[in-house]
Amino acid sequence: MNTLIENPLYRFTGLPDFGRITPEHVEPALRALLDECNAALDTLEETVEPTWASTIERSLEIAEPLHRAWGAVGHLLSVQNSDALRQAHQAVHPDVVAFSLRFGQSAPLYRALVELRDTIGDTLTEAQQRALADRIHAAELAGVGLDEDARAAFTERARELSGIQVEFSNHVLDATKAWWLDLTDPADVAGVPDSIRELYAQTWTRANPDADRPATGADGPWRVTLDIPSMRPFLQHAENRELRKKVYDAHVTRASSGDLDNTPLIDRILTLRQQQAEALGYENYAAMSLSRKMATLEGVDALTERLRAASLAPAKAELDEIRAFAADHGFDGEIEHHDIGFWRRQLRESRFDFTQEQLKPYFPLPRVLDGLFALVHRIFGVTIVAADGEVPVWDDDVQYFRVVDDRGATIAGFYLDPYSRPENKRGGAWMNDAQGRWRRGASVDLPIAYLVCNGTPPVGDRPSLMTFDDVETLFHEFGHGLQHMLTVVDDPDVAGIAGVEWDAVELPSQFMENWCYHEPTLIGLTRHVDTGEPLPRELFEKIVAARTFHAGTFMLRQLLYGATDIELHARYTPGGDRTPFDVMRDVAATTQVMAPVEHDRFLCAFGHIFAGGYAAGYYSYKWAEVLSADAFEAFIEAGLDDENATAEVGRRFRDTVLALGGSRHPSEVYRAFRGRDAEPDALLRLYDLAPAA
Ligand code: ZN
Repeated sequence: MNTLIENPLYRFTGLPDFGRITPEHVEPALRALLDECNAALDTLEETVEPTWASTIERSLEIAEPLHRAWGAVGHLLSVQNSDALRQAHQAVHPDVVAFSLRFGQSAPLYRALVELRDTIGDTLTEAQQRALADRIHAAELAGVGLDEDARAAFTERARELSGIQVEFSNHVLDATKAWWLDLTDPADVAGVPDSIRELYAQTWTRANPDADRPATGADGPWRVTLDIPSMRPFLQHAENRELRKKVYDAHVTRASSGDLDNTPLIDRILTLRQQQAEALGYENYAAMSLSRKMATLEGVDALTERLRAASLAPAKAELDEIRAFAADHGFDGEIEHHDIGFWRRQLRESRFDFTQEQLKPYFPLPRVLDGLFALVHRIFGVTIVAADGEVPVWDDDVQYFRVVDDRGATIAGFYLDPYSRPENKRGGAWMNDAQGRWRRGASVDLPIAYLVCNGTPPVGDRPSLMTFDDVETLFHEFGHGLQHMLTVVDDPDVAGIAGVEWDAVELPSQFMENWCYHEPTLIGLTRHVDTGEPLPRELFEKIVAARTFHAGTFMLRQLLYGATDIELHARYTPGGDRTPFDVMRDVAATTQVMAPVEHDRFLCAFGHIFAGGYAAGYYSYKWAEVLSADAFEAFIEAGLDDENATAEVGRRFRDTVLALGGSRHPSEVYRAFRGRDAEPDALLRLYDLAPAA
C-alpha cells in the first residue's frame, strides 16, 4: 500500500494530479486529513482569539488540504465514476460531513467571530466584513446561538426534516415508477412520432423481458410512463383524447394517495420549518430563508405582481389562439388541460418549426468556442489561450485554457470537458471551482474552473456538433465561470461565486445566454460543417420566435409555483381550515387563465420546495432573470453593434458583477453596475410581454 507521502490526494498544493489519482488513494488520504483537521480544530477551539488571523484565516488554513482533496474526489465522481471510486467516496463521506458540521457549529469559534465583529469589525475591509458576517450568520442558522435545550430540540427537528424530505422525494420517484399505460391498439398511439413509439416499445420490452417477442415501434406493445421524456410527447402528439386525459390526470395526482401519499409529509415539513424559524427568532420560514438572500419578501411580492399583471392578458390571448386553432382544425369541444399541449405543439409547428438536429451541422464545437472567446474578448477585454498539456487532466478529451488580461498576465484558468461519456460521466452541464482566488502574503492562488458539458463526441474527422440548446448551455456555464475567474477579491470566502446570494447567482450565467439571441454573435458561432455556410437568417428568426412563443403562459406557470411557495412559507399556518392545496388554488385564481383541475395535487410532487433547496426560494428563477435581462439591456441601450460602447459597458460589468462577486451585497454590486436597481420590465421586454422601452 502506498504511503501518505506518495498519495497524490494528501496535502497537495495547486491543482490535482489527475493522472496519478486512483480510487485506492481516497480513503487513506481522507482519513489522515480528517484526523489532522479534527485535531487542529480541537486546538483552535482551545486557543482561538477574536482576531482575523486566529479565526477566519486559521479556519481556512485548517480546512484547505481537506477541501482540496475532497473537491478533487467529488469532481472525479462526476467525470470519472467507477464502482471503486463510489465505494471509497461513500466510505468517508459521513465523516467529511460530520467534520464540516462540527466546524460550522463550533461554539468557541462562533463566540470569537462575534467578539471580533463587535470589537474591531469596523477596521476590517468591506470584503472581510462580508465574510465575517456570513460565517456568523451561517453558524446562527445552524443553531449555535441557542441554549442547550433549545439546541437539542433544534437538532432533533433538523434530523426529522432531512429524513422526511428524503421520504418525500422517494415517494415521488416510486409513484412515478408505479404508474404506466400499456397500449396494444395502433389507434391508441395515432399521431405519436416513430421515434417516440420506438421509445415506448423499448420501455415495454425492458419491463417484459420474458415476452415471446420484443415490442417494436411499429407494432407495439407500447408503454407510456410518467417520466417526462415519455409523458410529454404523449400529451403533445397522441390523438386519443381520453388517453391523454388519463396520462395527464396520473401526472397531476402523483404521490397523493395510498402508501405514497405526500399530503401528510407536506404538513409536517411546513410545521417543522415554521418551528425552526421561530426557534431562531424569525417570524416564519420565508423570513429565515430570505435572510441569506438578495430579495426581501416585499420585493418578491412586488416582482410577482408586476410580472403577473403584465403576463395575464398575453396568456389569455395565447389560450384563445389555441382554442381558435383547434376549432379551425376540426375540434369542437371545450379545450381542457390535457388538450393544451397537443394543440399548442401543432400551432407552433404550423407557424415555425425547426429541430435541434437540423441546427447541429451549423455549430461545430471549435467554431462555437472561437466565437465565445471572441465575444468575451470584445466585451470583457480578456484573452482565452489554449494551454493543453500545462496541467494534468482526467481524460484525453479534456482541454485546458488560460485567461490572460490586457497586460499579458495570466489571471485565471479553466478545464473544459466537452463530450458525453455515459460510461463514467454524469449528464448535464455545470461549472465548479477547482481553486478559488486567495491572496496569502505576496502570492496569490489564481481562480481555476471546471467547465463540464455533455456534447456529442466527434465522429471520425468530423468535429463535435452542438445543438442550439448545447450552445446556450455552454454560454450559461461560461457565465458562471467568468464570475469565478474574473474576481479581484482576495478572500476565498467571498471571491468569485463564493458568498454570492442564491437568488443572485444566476445573473452572469443568464446574462451570457442572451448573447445567443444577438444576431451577429450567433451567426458568428456558426459555419456549416460541410458547406461552410453561416446559419441562414430564416433559421435565426425561428430560434428567436421560439424563445417568446406563448411566453405569457410559461411566465404565469413559474409565478404560480413561486407565489405558492412564498404563500406556504410566509403566510400559511399548517393544521388550520385551509389545506396547502387550497392555497395553491387561491394563487391560481389570480395567476392562471385556466383553473387547475379539481383533483390537481401538483404539490405532492413539488420536490423543489419540499425535498430540494428551493423552499421560499423558487422565486429566484425570475428574480435572477430580471437582473440578467436588465443587465443585458444596458448593452442594448449602449448599442450592441457599437464596439466602443459595448466594450465600455462590458468593462463596467466586469469591474462590478464579475469582479466583486460575493464581497459586497448583490444590490450594491448591481447598483454599482447599473446606477439603479434592476427593473422587472426589462424581463417583460425580453419576452415581448411589454412594449419596447
Ligand atoms: Zn446556472
